[in-house]
Amino acid sequence: MRLRVRFSLVILSLILLSQVFFSAAYYYIERRSEMGLMYQQAMQSVQLATAECHEAMVTGDWGTAREYFVALGMLPAVRHADCMDAGGRILAHSDPTRIGERNLDAFGVAEGVWQVSRSVRLPGRGAGLARIGYDAAELDAQVRGRLARTMLVLSQVGVFSMVLGLLAAFLVARAQTRPIEELAAATAELSAGHLDFRLPEDARRDELGLLRLKFNEMAHRLGELDKMKRRLVESLTHDLKNPLAGIKASLQMMLDRNAGPLTAAQKKYMESSLESADRLWDTIDGILDAMRLQAGPFPIQLEDAEVEALVRPAAAGLEPKAERCGVKLKTSVPKGLPRVKADCELVQRVLGNLLANALKFTPSGGTVTLRAEKDGGTVRFEVRDTGAGIPAEELSRIFEPFYQVSETGSLAREHGSGLGLSICERIVREHGGRIWAESEFGKGSAFFFTLPAA
Ligand code: ADP
Repeated sequence: MRLRVRFSLVILSLILLSQVFFSAAYYYIERRSEMGLMYQQAMQSVQLATAECHEAMVTGDWGTAREYFVALGMLPAVRHADCMDAGGRILAHSDPTRIGERNLDAFGVAEGVWQVSRSVRLPGRGAGLARIGYDAAELDAQVRGRLARTMLVLSQVGVFSMVLGLLAAFLVARAQTRPIEELAAATAELSAGHLDFRLPEDARRDELGLLRLKFNEMAHRLGELDKMKRRLVESLTHDLKNPLAGIKASLQMMLDRNAGPLTAAQKKYMESSLESADRLWDTIDGILDAMRLQAGPFPIQLEDAEVEALVRPAAAGLEPKAERCGVKLKTSVPKGLPRVKADCELVQRVLGNLLANALKFTPSGGTVTLRAEKDGGTVRFEVRDTGAGIPAEELSRIFEPFYQVSETGSLAREHGSGLGLSICERIVREHGGRIWAESEFGKGSAFFFTLPAA
């Protein structure tokens, strides 16, 4: 999951959590205050009822008091309201038919009824009682109804604040992750070999700003080291090439018998020395080429080229070697392929390199096939062999400079420098194409690259 999404989700969850917590707390407090209010109202009602009852007891006129109790009984939450004398005789009741009954258990309350009562004191006549019984379920429903309205408003505010929170979370997450994403992209640039890449100056002075600063310092230092390394390798390779050229020339002169006749054994050793010297020369050339290609853009001369004109010379150049190795070299170029935009010399070098690698890793009796096909707006070249193959986990690494697959090293006909594919990759990239490899380890490999059609 991307860091930005994770950041947003964490902030959102925090907002959601705090909303749930505050809503629950608010609900609890509101419920308590509603209950308190209800109790107060009930106490006021029973106080009024007591006053009515007291008045009637004093005056002996029960007309108004009884009407009052009947009216009380008509309220939606009231189950009963009554007033009794000290002996438990009912003097007024919400149900007038019960007047005169004796209620000996003055405090007995039916199930589901919540009752409030107050004594009615008359000097010298003991204490009567006024009671109001409420329907507990109805009271509860009233409280719930009032709370539901409050919660509805609360949830509307919640949704609104969630939308705001989402926006804020996204903005905060973006502000925090953008510098990290920029750093990741910059690191990718560095690892792709663009050591002159720098992050633009930033005004932030926090840890991310410091990281940015340190990144640029590191890139600068790496660039310096790379330049030093390149200068060193260039001067070393040049220093190697001069004496090597002398050795090659001397060996060739001796082989041409300019220094007198040679025995068969001398000839054999000299040929082998010259072959080794040639290989060393090629390796040094490869290193110099790789250095040059890595140093920056190099001149390519694009022309509209026939695919056939690229494929045939490359295959012909390796035909003798294939024969020597006992490997069948096949080419397949269908008629009517579009021309490609290519620097012929460089593309032939790519093909030559891929074919040479294929021959190097294919045992005698195997086959190497060079194919070209139309692929959308490009022409796709393919060099397929029936050789050693490449382990899947190493396929993405073989285009790195100096990378060689250790498992198949001993199967190669000759040692290489590990530079050929990185040079091919650079050349193809400069042409605007793509290069990649597929392989089944132990069964063979296929290398592909595309060139834009002209
Ligand atoms: P070199 O061939 O000089 O070692 P390359 O850059 O051309 O360098 O190739 C890098 C590595 O990729 C080789 O060392 C080898 O391990 C692997 N490789 C390239 N082509 C093939 C192939 N056709 N079959 C098997 N392995 C290959």
